Amino acid sequence: MTHRDPSFGTSRRSVSITLLAILFLGLAGVIVAGSFSFMGVRKVDRDTAEREVAFARIALASLLQAQPKDQQSSAIWNDAVLRVREEDEDFMEGNLGVWMQEFFGHDRDFVLRPNGTPVYASAALATVPVDAQAEVYPAIAPLVARLREQVLEAESAEDAAALTALDVVTLADGPALASVVPIVPENEDIPFDPADTYLHVALRHLDVGLAEKIFRPYQLSAPHFETAPAPAPEQSIRVLDPSAQPLWMVWTPNRPGLILAREIAPAAMMATLVCLMILLLLGLRLNRTTRDLEHSEAQARHSAHHDRLTGLANRVLLEERLEQALKRARSGDTGLGVIMVDLDAFKQVNDAYGHPMGDKLVQQVGGRLARIVWDGPTVARVGGDEFVILLPGLAGEEDLAQHCRWVQDGLSDPFRIDGHFFQVTASLGAVHSDVCSPYKDEVIRCADIALYRAKNAGRAQFSLYHGEMDDTNRKRNRLAADLAAVLTEGNGSIAVHYQPIFDANGHLAGAEALARWHHPELGPVPPDVFVAVAEERGLIEPLGRAVLDEACRVAALAGLSKVAVNVSALEICRAGYAAQVLQVLQQRGLPPSRLELELTERVAIASSAAAQANIGPLLAAGVTLALDDFGAGHSSIRYLRDFGFDRVKIDRSFVQQIETDPTALKLVRAMIDMASSLGIAVTAEGIEEEAQLSRLASLGCSSFQGYFLGRPMDRDAITRLAAEAEQADNVTWLPQASRSIA
Ligand code: C2E
Ligand code: MG
Ligand code: MG
Repeated sequence: MTHRDPSFGTSRRSVSITLLAILFLGLAGVIVAGSFSFMGVRKVDRDTAEREVAFARIALASLLQAQPKDQQSSAIWNDAVLRVREEDEDFMEGNLGVWMQEFFGHDRDFVLRPNGTPVYASAALATVPVDAQAEVYPAIAPLVARLREQVLEAESAEDAAALTALDVVTLADGPALASVVPIVPENEDIPFDPADTYLHVALRHLDVGLAEKIFRPYQLSAPHFETAPAPAPEQSIRVLDPSAQPLWMVWTPNRPGLILAREIAPAAMMATLVCLMILLLLGLRLNRTTRDLEHSEAQARHSAHHDRLTGLANRVLLEERLEQALKRARSGDTGLGVIMVDLDAFKQVNDAYGHPMGDKLVQQVGGRLARIVWDGPTVARVGGDEFVILLPGLAGEEDLAQHCRWVQDGLSDPFRIDGHFFQVTASLGAVHSDVCSPYKDEVIRCADIALYRAKNAGRAQFSLYHGEMDDTNRKRNRLAADLAAVLTEGNGSIAVHYQPIFDANGHLAGAEALARWHHPELGPVPPDVFVAVAEERGLIEPLGRAVLDEACRVAALAGLSKVAVNVSALEICRAGYAAQVLQVLQQRGLPPSRLELELTERVAIASSAAAQANIGPLLAAGVTLALDDFGAGHSSIRYLRDFGFDRVKIDRSFVQQIETDPTALKLVRAMIDMASSLGIAVTAEGIEEEAQLSRLASLGCSSFQGYFLGRPMDRDAITRLAAEAEQADNVTWLPQASRSIA
């Protein structure tokens, strides 16, 4: 039977949640750190790109401004105005041509006449024939025309000196920056004539070399010019806008963030991986620890709810389940049956075979009970050999009785343990929730009462609780309390009567001591009842001692040849009993051979080592033993021999049927034969009729007891009887009828 606790799942779930949370936090941390890093990298790169664009603009602007300015350094000059008019080639080479190329890095320089024709040309650091540069003139023509127009409108040399024209032009060897300035007087020493103004043209190839040169100080990578913009806007800027020839300055942007990221990425990734691994390991460790904890918690919980020996539910779990089932029963859903099972004579198994064997038997019984009732009910072990079966959803008492029979049938097959066979019977007390108040303690109490009833009815039985049992129980409680008071006060309320026993010759052979209790309110209480109460409530020892003491005293005083005293199974199994008996004999001055102890078959079944330990010294001292109520129980020849019984007393029930029931007759004959073959004397008790007496005498009984021969009588009466028998020289007191047996 397993017990599942719903909180197991909850704690398992909460661990999974914690684990997930740790992993999630770890991952989130990585993602956040990654995102910040990524944003940082982007920002650094964007800033760098913006800076590069700004630098590129500055560099380009300085190029665009510098070129006309450089030209103007020689073009706004009185000498230049005069010398170009004279078309002085040396002057032009030294100041407006080769010199400018050397000094400012122009690729080509031209001087144009006021009518637009070239007067001077220089290229590749040399003066060249103007015709050699024919391809250039159409390209620069629009630019030249534009400036010329502006010059013609200029009102002074100063105005004209401020004029420049600048544009990108396309030449056979690529794009070039063309700039045109007028050659004008620097002052008014010579007159300014717009119509007679020469122009200076400078060309600079917009090639990689130039790009490198002007952009190197700004550390732009791979700068060059393209006729189309670069795909990303920050990678290019337009050289001139507007311009006849669209041209872009293009470069590969530096990405310091990206470079840094690339450099630290492996280390960062390693670190992240290590962190994640550590987190994962920690998580797994946590998971394992939690699982271990859960496991031990589950085990602890299981052992708190289960019986260690049988694995069945224990009292705690039983009470929980009972409470639940009763709640349903109270709400009117279904009825509930409870069966309490107590193994008969289990103590004797322990005593005879030892506790390990007893444990194995309990284990097997538990296992079998769990199989007998199907899965639904709870089978619990609540004591050494006590079990409780819960049967929820049980319709009524009929079903309950049926379950009791199943349990008894199920236990009836012998148990085999270590090669020994054990035949087990159990007493069952059962209650249905309909017949008692449906609360836990009450149900258990009622089942308990029913169990007592079953035990007292002779064991191996089941009894179903019903209301009157409670009255009986209350009565027993009262009896027990009163008996305890009577025994401790020792006021003689417990009397002893003596029933004479006669031998086959009709002579008084002795008497059986029988306890009597006259209750002040209830009147005489039968010994069967108060002896059972005394056994049940632990009062048998004082009761037994009182009867033994009184019987020995009276037997000694009255000179009875034998007094028989009934001994409970509990007494004979108690350590020190023999010593106590011998002490009483000594105190009362009765020779041990004049005492006979009557044991019932319960003692024989017990076959207890403790009983043997008492019987040995008693037999040795000369006390004799009789097996009382022979045939009513389960005694076997083996017990008769093992215990050393001197006598058996055939049970009243056989004697009383001997004349009416042929089977009873047969059984009695068999018992007498068996006893005499073992050399054991036979007493017949409960003889009520003469016919019974004659029959038993003829069958070979050696002594006789019964109302027909003599009822139990008080101390004085038996004393008188004994005296009469003595005086009459053993002439019996027997009525005429029974004398015939002599
Ligand atoms: P028991 O030992 O078998 O005692 C014989 C019982 O049979 C006595 O009942 C006796 O009165 C009754 N009896 C004798 N002759 C006849 C007869 O002809 N007809 C009928 N119907 N009954 C007859 P009692 O005194 O009621 O005792 C009942 C049982 O109580 C005894 O059975 C014995 O087992 C037990 N008992 C009595 N006194 C003691 C005692 O001091 N200690 C113990 N342990 N048990 C006792
Ligand atoms: Mg007896
Ligand atoms: Mg008897």
